[in-house]
Amino acid sequence: MRSLSSVRRRPSMLRGRLPSRVFQVLKQAGELAERTSVSAFVVGGFVRDLLLGQPNLDLDLAIEGDGIAYARALARAAKAEVKVHDRFETAVIVFPDGFKVDVATARIERYEYPTALPTVQRSSIKEDLYRRDFTINTLAIRLNPNHFGELIDFYGGQRDLNEKTIRVLHSLSFVEDPTRVFRAIRFGQRFGFRLGTETLALIKGAVEMDLFHRLSGSRLSDELILLLSEEEPRKIIARLGELNLLRFVHPALKSSARLDALLKAVQKVLNWYKLASLNWLDRKGSVVGATLGSAPGRIDAWLVYFMALMEVIPGKAVGETLRRLKLSARHAEKIRVSHSLSRKLLQRLAKRPPLRPAETYRVLVGLSDETLLFLMAKTKSESVKRHIAAYLTTYRHVKPTLTGTDLNALGLKPGPIFKKILSQLLDARLNGEVRTESDERALVKRIIKAVA
Ligand code: ATP
Ligand code: MG
Repeated sequence: MRSLSSVRRRPSMLRGRLPSRVFQVLKQAGELAERTSVSAFVVGGFVRDLLLGQPNLDLDLAIEGDGIAYARALARAAKAEVKVHDRFETAVIVFPDGFKVDVATARIERYEYPTALPTVQRSSIKEDLYRRDFTINTLAIRLNPNHFGELIDFYGGQRDLNEKTIRVLHSLSFVEDPTRVFRAIRFGQRFGFRLGTETLALIKGAVEMDLFHRLSGSRLSDELILLLSEEEPRKIIARLGELNLLRFVHPALKSSARLDALLKAVQKVLNWYKLASLNWLDRKGSVVGATLGSAPGRIDAWLVYFMALMEVIPGKAVGETLRRLKLSARHAEKIRVSHSLSRKLLQRLAKRPPLRPAETYRVLVGLSDETLLFLMAKTKSESVKRHIAAYLTTYRHVKPTLTGTDLNALGLKPGPIFKKILSQLLDARLNGEVRTESDERALVKRIIKAVA
């Protein structure tokens, strides 16, 4: 990474480095701040990623002054919508083109007791930045026209970006908010940064003090989901294991060769799925047939990792864990299905002689993509993997040409026979026994004859 220390003296650090839409919004935000006599700053992850040269379109603005009034004025000027959260003096502006900006009043947060939600009081930008988690997240850039693009670094953020180090601002940071422990591991992994020596010692202290037990299930699972949504959850889970942090998912959850092998397999399968989805996008419009689902790649990849974690804790602990972590009903259901059915499903797919496509289809139809991918990761059998891959890419898109309307036209009356015929047509299509519409018509006639 190039040296960052020179940046501060270059007020134009925003120009030429940003998509023009972002630049335009920041410029407009600065001009409005000047007109309404407040100071506006872009803060946090956006600035960090700008210095790291990584794209980030999440704009967080901090306002010295009334942030809500400012947000309303900015929305009015830009004909945008604004949603206000009064208690925290924050607002979200949604521009007509869908671009979003978060606005907050610069504030001090006081914690009445550790892990409580903070109470809020207005402050200067310096104090606002002090309440943040790590030095690399305390950087800000001024937006008011006379100082547009000026970098503000009170707490050594540039130094720590250069030194590739995650550091808290003070020794009570993890006591105030233990979720920062998970955030530290997440950012460390994402950027390839190390944890500062004192920060690491404080994390170990937080683990010993068991601060995490005070966190609600949903705060824990929010963090877990973010961790599992990073590029390489396998490494993150290994790190959590080293720091004795996996037990907050479940006391019996530990690093093991078995878990690691499973996570590696999940990663491989997800990479395959991503490529297969891209392939689908490339061919969209030109090829109908061998493709992934109609919304390619729209899966919760973290869920597949979560399924792997649930695989290595005692079976009867899974339900309780899902409840304690307050996973949404939709997600919990997918995990439950994977957990309770995967062994049986894999056994059925491994049958000899090998299943025909229609049989594979009947075994797998209705399962979520996440469950299907988990099954692919779990099985050691290459032929079972191929069955599932074929289902995902091909079988589930196969449909007979004839429909109920056609059966009507053939003089059949709607009823159970319809379902029977359509399902036999589908099987025949899947197994390649019929290939054309006239093949299908011939088959329908044979079926009618047989039942008549
Ligand atoms: P990401 O790229 O993951 O979104 P980010 O730095 O933008 O990274 P957010 O979770 O979006 O992280 O939070 C925005 C900013 O709010 C952070 O940069 C940090 O300054 C601050 N922040 C978020 N969570 C905490 C926390 N638990 N404690 C202190 N500061 C926090
Ligand atoms: Mg963010």
